[in-house]
Amino acid sequence: MRSGSLERRPERIAIRAARLFDGHGPGYLLDPLVLVEAGRIVEAGSGLEPPQGVEVVDLRGLTLLPGLVDSHVHLALNATDEAVDHVTHADEAALLASMRAAAARTLAAGVTTVRDLGDRDYLSLRLREETAVDPAAGPAILASGPPITTPGGHCWFLGGEASGVDGVRAAVRERAERGADVVKVMATGGGITAGSAMHERQYGRAELRAAAEEAHRLGLPITAHAHSPEGIADVVAAGFDGIEHCTFYAEDGVRADEGLVRELAKRGVAVTLTLGALPGGPPLTPEQARQLPAFVAGLRMMRQAGVTLVCGSDSGIFAVKPHGGLAHSVAAMVDMAGLAPLDALRSATSVAARACGVGERKGTVAAGFDADLIGVQGDPLADPAALLDVRAVFRAGRRVALDEQDARGRG
Ligand SMILES: [Zn+2]
Repeated sequence: MRSGSLERRPERIAIRAARLFDGHGPGYLLDPLVLVEAGRIVEAGSGLEPPQGVEVVDLRGLTLLPGLVDSHVHLALNATDEAVDHVTHADEAALLASMRAAAARTLAAGVTTVRDLGDRDYLSLRLREETAVDPAAGPAILASGPPITTPGGHCWFLGGEASGVDGVRAAVRERAERGADVVKVMATGGGITAGSAMHERQYGRAELRAAAEEAHRLGLPITAHAHSPEGIADVVAAGFDGIEHCTFYAEDGVRADEGLVRELAKRGVAVTLTLGALPGGPPLTPEQARQLPAFVAGLRMMRQAGVTLVCGSDSGIFAVKPHGGLAHSVAAMVDMAGLAPLDALRSATSVAARACGVGERKGTVAAGFDADLIGVQGDPLADPAALLDVRAVFRAGRRVALDEQDARGRG
């Protein structure tokens, strides 16, 4: 080590905390010290002494964790009940302004990496460059650009309409050329699009297979929005890497399919659940209430079968899905899907990072990983609701000023 050097290194800091969850567990490391240099963690351990002359950040009242990773957000949707109208009609400057505010709010809530699975005009890729240059402006962003959908299909208003095997292949190529990190396909209908139904399939198997082949040929992961059992089966058969929502909503009700769930587990498909919402939202419709037990049974079936369950928020689509609201989804992984709090925390840190293709850099507190860290009040392994009380955020080794960030988030 170069600890004897007299050279001034203002970018070196040592963070102390009461305890550390490293993204894996099973428990906490007590009295941790995390040494950060040039945006990376160089050492993390218990009972270490900070090197001479290094600035020490004392968080000994807090629990330190990896910055949270939200594997499903929409920065272009403004988290109001008019989000579709906003993203459809806002001019580019207004849309970018609301996206910057969403990014700031996300970071202030302790979410240091997001995977944006549907924007307009590839604007999340532009924001990706901004937060790479200025890590305090928002989370690290991985982005799909506009989701690929059928003409008039789910989220057609984001501009990603494509049909036929050749059309779908061309759409995947366009995303690769634009520099997207992931390809997103709307395999079934969805709730926020007028005239679209969750149980309806949008593409045939040949189109889905072409999309997956083309994405993999170009070195990109591919994930699908899929609700119905038939849609989920198509996506699995086509070789997709991930499935979003995976609710098993069929025309006649929720029908979790045991054979299909086993297949998801066997193939290692990453299933991102987007369960969380602000408390106090509108009550379930009678139909939703009737479906709830079967829906919950489907989630538990996936958990018991060993499906890789990833925590996402779908932030932006409604007022009850605020940007930075991932903590509500972590809590729902416990309350609804029946995960142990430890597994729920993993699903929003190390497991999510791996599912997003950045598991070698993010979601873990260890030497060599990006210094994206948060400090929370309380004991998140006992109660994940502690993630709602974020007191410190570091992005690429820089401490984020949370008051200032709240102001930016208000836009
Ligand atoms: Zn979504």
